[in-house]
Amino acid sequence: MNIALIAHDKKKQAMIQFTQAYKHILKKHQLFATGTTGQKITEATELSVHRFQSGPLGGDQQIGAKIADNELDLVIFFRDPLTAQPHEPDVSALMRLCDVHMIPLATNAAGAEIMVRSIEQGDFEWREMINQKKKEQNL
Ligand code: PGA
Repeated sequence: MNIALIAHDKKKQAMIQFTQAYKHILKKHQLFATGTTGQKITEATELSVHRFQSGPLGGDQQIGAKIADNELDLVIFFRDPLTAQPHEPDVSALMRLCDVHMIPLATNAAGAEIMVRSIEQGDFEWREMINQKKKEQNL
């Protein structure tokens, strides 16, 4: 599966702890992240992460583009709901695209834990079915 990981600054520590705790699951998947989040995850866990630009410099939009192309299966976005973000329009756009394309989105650690555990249970197989169908229809 292709998984995107993003954390606002005040949530980066929580993201590090999350990726450390679930490294055994995450290491089996392709990981993508905004610039600083990806750097911190790699430093803390040695997981291999494809890094885009930093969020405020366009990283959220780059991840949004992958969502629009149906290239992400899960987005884990630890948002900071208590701090104004300079790139709030990009953040909203990313979440909107998840809704448009029915991509599972967790915006806090509680939801992310449930989603990551559900990967192991095969609960994401419907994504493979959709991708297969899209391939057949050449979409
Ligand atoms: P960052 O971006 O990982 O580069 O800090 C995250 C964000 O603020 O969207």
